[in-house]
Amino acid sequence: MPSADTILSSVFGFSEFRPGQEEVVDAVCAGEDVLAIMPTGGGKSLCFQLPALAREGLTVVISPLIALMRDQVRGLREAGVAAGALTSGNTPEETDAVFEALEDGSLKILYMAPERLAHGGTVRLLSRAGVGLLAVDEAHCVSQWGHDFRPDYLRIGDLRRALDVPVAAFTATADAETRDEIIARLFPDTAPRVFLRGFDRPNIHLAFAAKDSPRRQILDFAGARKGQSGIVYCGTRAKTEGLAQALREAGHMACHYHGGMEAEDRRIVETRFQREDSLIVVATVAFGMGVDKPDIRWVAHADLPKSIEAYYQEIGRAGRDGAPAETLTLFGPDDIRLRRSQIDEGLAPPERKGADHGRLNALLGLAEALRCRRQVLLSYFGEDSAACGNCDLCDTAPEVFDGTDAVRKALSAVLRTGESFGAGHLIDILTGNATDKVRQRGHEDLPTFGVGRDLDKRTWQGVFRQMMGHDLLRPDAARHGALVMTDAARPLLRGETTIELRRDTLRKAAHRPAVRA
Ligand code: ADP
Ligand code: ZN
Repeated sequence: MPSADTILSSVFGFSEFRPGQEEVVDAVCAGEDVLAIMPTGGGKSLCFQLPALAREGLTVVISPLIALMRDQVRGLREAGVAAGALTSGNTPEETDAVFEALEDGSLKILYMAPERLAHGGTVRLLSRAGVGLLAVDEAHCVSQWGHDFRPDYLRIGDLRRALDVPVAAFTATADAETRDEIIARLFPDTAPRVFLRGFDRPNIHLAFAAKDSPRRQILDFAGARKGQSGIVYCGTRAKTEGLAQALREAGHMACHYHGGMEAEDRRIVETRFQREDSLIVVATVAFGMGVDKPDIRWVAHADLPKSIEAYYQEIGRAGRDGAPAETLTLFGPDDIRLRRSQIDEGLAPPERKGADHGRLNALLGLAEALRCRRQVLLSYFGEDSAACGNCDLCDTAPEVFDGTDAVRKALSAVLRTGESFGAGHLIDILTGNATDKVRQRGHEDLPTFGVGRDLDKRTWQGVFRQMMGHDLLRPDAARHGALVMTDAARPLLRGETTIELRRDTLRKAAHRPAVRA
């Protein structure tokens, strides 16, 4: 058999492996059970296609994406590889040809939709076909809590037992729960080698900013990048139209895009964006799936995304060409309230809601990070890295202060008022501002009244935002966002731990001239 390097260049025409590919290829070639987690576009297919050619026998690839299977089969055939597919998209002639090739042992790679596994004859057929490797693409489809659950994926375990061959599973979904579920379902009796790499996109500059006057912040960011292609993601459809208008008034070329638009209008925006060099699309998350533009120079979030995975995917649309790209994500207490209530009021089962809060917490932790953002982001995906030198926190180290005292005072105000109020009222109490509401509730008489006079109102707003970001306080959607203390705050209240808070975002917010958005 030729070496992996030789096949890489002679069959696939690539001069070198991408980050992470070679280790996976080596392990799969060596017949190990493997779970490889690589980002979309990271080059997963090569990690089973190359070993398929380096190993004896037939490689069966399970994939849920029919169009993608057909593309890959076409590509492999053009490269001279005997590949075929069994999917519902086949013509009868195609299916016959695959069966013939299976019979005479000439097939090297067989793609198969999971539905096929429900046919009784499939396992028997494959048992006779000399299978040497089972590859599972989009392996997160075995996860019941995932958005892409495919019941037929649960049959892969049986197939594996019947064939008794190594399994190489691939996914771009990196969170730990999904990973554990894939292992439990696909490898119940063995521990696969897990590879996780290639999540870094070093050319993308990462930055977050506390929401101050969001429209001005986005206009400033876009203004410094005039004439470049960019995307602004907004949390609501209505906002996309207003912001696109404001950008046009500031002299940009800008369109809005959301799922409520006619398909034809959406297509026009997609085509223009693809073709033009300097269009800004202001969109909801509906924009992106079909967009494959390599030279998007920047992505901004006017509102906080819903999870760290969503954030990663959305900023990842920038700079696919490898040239420098910029991002900016705005966030504030209203975003946190909105995202929490979307989770709480959704229809997901309780375990899922807990996991969704966890994914939101991970993003908030990134937003409130005190050190290199890329390190925080990559460590969430399981990758270790050094400080990147290409994020706002590497550019300017944040000024931090011991926020323990301020946080304890705030928690005390929350508890003494029965966890029934939002940040505004609590700040009035802390700063000794005897509003009508404070007087009516008798909150002037609380021992907490006025204990926070050393910080001004804007600073307190920053403290509360960071407390929500660290999940010390959660807004209760059922009670108009009243702030409730979480268990994570108890050690702080008991004096068992301390907490560092950022000062610079607070200062910046406090010193910024008020600009009407
Ligand atoms: P995904 O991980 O999303 O399945 P693909 O396997 O489709 O990604 O690969 C994404 C693209 O990268 C494809 O166009 C593929 O040809 C290309 N690619 C994969 N490996 C390499 C490599 N070693 N060198 C250059 N291009 C590669
Ligand atoms: Zn950094």
